[in-house]
Amino acid sequence: MLEENACVKKLRGLEETCWYNPKRKSTAEALAECPLGRADVLDAEARLQRFAPLIRTLFPETQPQDGLIESPVREIPEMKRRLEKRHGIRIPGRLWLKMDSHLPISGSVKARGGIYEVLKTAEDIAAGEGILRPGDDYRCFDTPAFRKVLSQYTIAVGSTGNLGLSIGIMSAKLGFRAVVHMSADARQWKKDLLRARGVQVIEYAGDYSEAVAQGRRLAEQDEKCHFVDDENSRTLFLGYAVAALRLKRQLDARGVAVDASHPLKVYLPCGVGGGPGGIAFGLKLMYGDDVHCYFAEPTHACCMLLGLCTGLHNEISVQDIGIAPETAADGLAVGRASGFVGRLIEPFLTGCYTLKDDRLFEMLAQLADGEGVFLEPSALAGMYGPVLMRTAEAFRRDGAVPNATHLVWATGGQMVPEAEMNGYYRRGRKLLMR
Ligand SMILES: *Cc1c(COP(=O)(O)O)cnc(C)c1O
Repeated sequence: MLEENACVKKLRGLEETCWYNPKRKSTAEALAECPLGRADVLDAEARLQRFAPLIRTLFPETQPQDGLIESPVREIPEMKRRLEKRHGIRIPGRLWLKMDSHLPISGSVKARGGIYEVLKTAEDIAAGEGILRPGDDYRCFDTPAFRKVLSQYTIAVGSTGNLGLSIGIMSAKLGFRAVVHMSADARQWKKDLLRARGVQVIEYAGDYSEAVAQGRRLAEQDEKCHFVDDENSRTLFLGYAVAALRLKRQLDARGVAVDASHPLKVYLPCGVGGGPGGIAFGLKLMYGDDVHCYFAEPTHACCMLLGLCTGLHNEISVQDIGIAPETAADGLAVGRASGFVGRLIEPFLTGCYTLKDDRLFEMLAQLADGEGVFLEPSALAGMYGPVLMRTAEAFRRDGAVPNATHLVWATGGQMVPEAEMNGYYRRGRKLLMR
C-alpha cells in the first residue's frame, strides 16, 4: 500500500518534496471539529499575563516587554533580493522574519511552549498545595517558601536540545528539580549550559524518540515528577499558540493588512510538530482563511509530512521507510511526529515541504550577509518556502498571489556560541561559492 503512495516514494528517495494538503478544510469547518478553540488560547495568554510580573523580576531582559516573552518581527528585503537572485525568480509581495531566534530566556521557539508548561505546572502545584489563591501577585513564587515547596517536585523532559534549554532554565529558576533527557544529536554546548544552571542532564546514545521514551518511563515511577510530553502535550501546544495573538498585534502596528487579497503565508520549521502546530492553529484562529501555513522539514527528518501523506501520523516513522533521522538541523531531528498534532492540524494546514541540509546553510549565510541576522540551521527551514511558491509545481497556484505577506518563522539561534555559529556561516559561504 505504501509503495503506491507517490509522496512516500519521494520521501524514501530523500528527494526534496512539496505536498499540497488535499485534506485541508475551510477554517470554520476545521474549527467546528477541533477539540481546542479560541477560549483555550486566551486562557493561556491570561496565564502568561499573570506570570509576567514574576518573569520581569526573575529575568531582567524581559523588562522592556513587561515580563512577556516575545520576539520582534521585521521585514527582510535584502534577503528577498538574494533569494530571488540565487534562484532566478521574482517573489511577489513582501518578506518578513518572526525572530523567535531572539526570544528572551532561551533563544528559541521553545521559550513559548516549554516555559508556558513549566509555569502552568508551578501554578497547579502551588494552588494544589494551598499556597496560591486567585488574584495573588505571582511574585510570591520568588520567595523561599514557594521555592521550598517546588523543590519537592521534579520537571523532566526528553529533548534534542532547545526544549531542554527552555524547560531546564525555567524549572531551575523556580526551584524545581529539573531533569533533561538528551538525544545523541543534542549539541554539547546545550548540555554544558544546562549543567551550569543546576539541571541534571542524562545523555542517550539513541535518537530523540528514545530519549523521550526513557524520560517518560522514569517519570512514571515518581508521582512528584511532571514529564513534559513533547509528543502529546496540549499545554505546550497552547503555549505556542499564544504567539499568534502577539503577531497579529505586531503586524497591525506595522500596518500590514491581512485579508483575502493580501494573504499571509507563514513557513514554519517542524520537528515533532508542537511548535509549528500550535502557532499555525493560533494563526488560523486569528486570520481564518486569509492565512496559509506550511511546515518545513529536512529530507532526513520528514516525519510530519510522512505522517500526513500516509494518514498514519505517529503510527509511522522515517525509520520505517529506511531513513535515519540524521540532519544538521538538530532542532528538527525527529523520526516520528506527534500524532496529537498531526491529527489536529490536518484540516488547517496548507502544505508541507522537505529540503536538503545544504540549503539551510546557504540561507544561513545569505541572511547573515544580507540582514545581519544569525540563525541556527533548523531555523532556516522556513526560508525556502517563499522560493518554492514560485518554483514548485505543487505550490505554483499559491505563489501567483501578488500582494502576499511571506512570513518566515525563525525558530532559534541567539544562544548558539560564536565559534559554532562561525562554523555554520563558513559552511554556508562555501556552498554559495559553488
Ligand atoms: C523544536 C524546534 C523546532 C520545531 O518545533 P517542534 O515542536 O519540535 O515541531 C523548530 N526549530 C527549532 C530551532 C527548534 O528547536
